[in-house]
Amino acid sequence: MLDVSEASIGRAGKALAEGRLVAFPTETVYGLGANAFDEKAVARIFEAKARPNFDPLIVHIAELSQADRVVSSLPPAARALMERLWPGPLTLILPKRDEVPDLVTSGLPTVALRFPANSVAQDLIRAAGLPIAAPSANPFGYLSPTTADHVAAMLGDKVDFIIDGGPCRIGVESTVLDVTGERPVVLRPGGMPVESIEEVVGKVEILDRSEAKPTSPGQLPSHYAPHTKLYLVPSGGLAYAKPHGKAAALVYDAASKEALAHAHGAPSHFRTIRVLSESGDLLESAARLFSTLHELDSGGFDEIWAERLPELGLGRAVNDRLFKASEKR
Ligand code: AMP
Ligand code: MG
Repeated sequence: MLDVSEASIGRAGKALAEGRLVAFPTETVYGLGANAFDEKAVARIFEAKARPNFDPLIVHIAELSQADRVVSSLPPAARALMERLWPGPLTLILPKRDEVPDLVTSGLPTVALRFPANSVAQDLIRAAGLPIAAPSANPFGYLSPTTADHVAAMLGDKVDFIIDGGPCRIGVESTVLDVTGERPVVLRPGGMPVESIEEVVGKVEILDRSEAKPTSPGQLPSHYAPHTKLYLVPSGGLAYAKPHGKAAALVYDAASKEALAHAHGAPSHFRTIRVLSESGDLLESAARLFSTLHELDSGGFDEIWAERLPELGLGRAVNDRLFKASEKR
């Protein structure tokens, strides 16, 4: 585990340049990074995550000029979004340069590119002097890590360094936006609200999950899942839940908790009620989502029951992750 001193970042940057794996904080979740141009280093990411190879990775840069090393052309919409919303939790799908190995893009002619806002991530990428390919630093399909301890617990023996930059500010993955077509398409809702994107480029399409192809695993119906069975119900629906065994409830805000506590008979169903954001703040809910799920997952519960959040802003991303973590009935 490394701290965020200049010496540590320098050491980790050198390791990346030498083809090794470094887990690092971003404002979304912790990433597992490797030199994006080094096929062998990238292969080690898949090995560490036990991730299927059809899963393309996001390439991270720390200066706009680095985009030229990765993408072959920039559609006007991309340029506008990069200027207005980068650095930030927005990943753009762009035409790739030949130099980007197929392993990074799963053989797709496009590459996912992001400029993270986290200063530790930026310092690390600059220290490496390279674009860094990085998926979330968790075993494939499991909950994403939002602290260095999550990474250490899940992948500690598989990475060369873990940089501890504290908890992630946003806590859900980036919004993935395909800007290679006529109109931008959201492939995965995430940390950048769709509303902010539409302020820059106008109306965007949101990909319908039911027609999702496995080119974007963030779209796989089961992903980001805890080991404990999780059931997702509509907002306010936990009062009618029929949990079995030792069950935990995950609610949006204090008002939801209050309503559940006063619902006839319901509190006795749940051993604990956890609140994502007392004040009903969507950003705070997103930031706390994965760490709360990690905690509940190791709390010895038989079931976790969660309610949906309002379907706006970061609520969309949280609902998407809860849906993917949930049992499909
Ligand atoms: P993760 O690295 O775990 O945050 O996941 C990255 C997300 O970006 C996944 O859902 C990928 O499938 C998606 N992605 C990466 N590259 C591409 C691409 N070229 N086209 C479409 N989706 C992509
Ligand atoms: Mg992931």
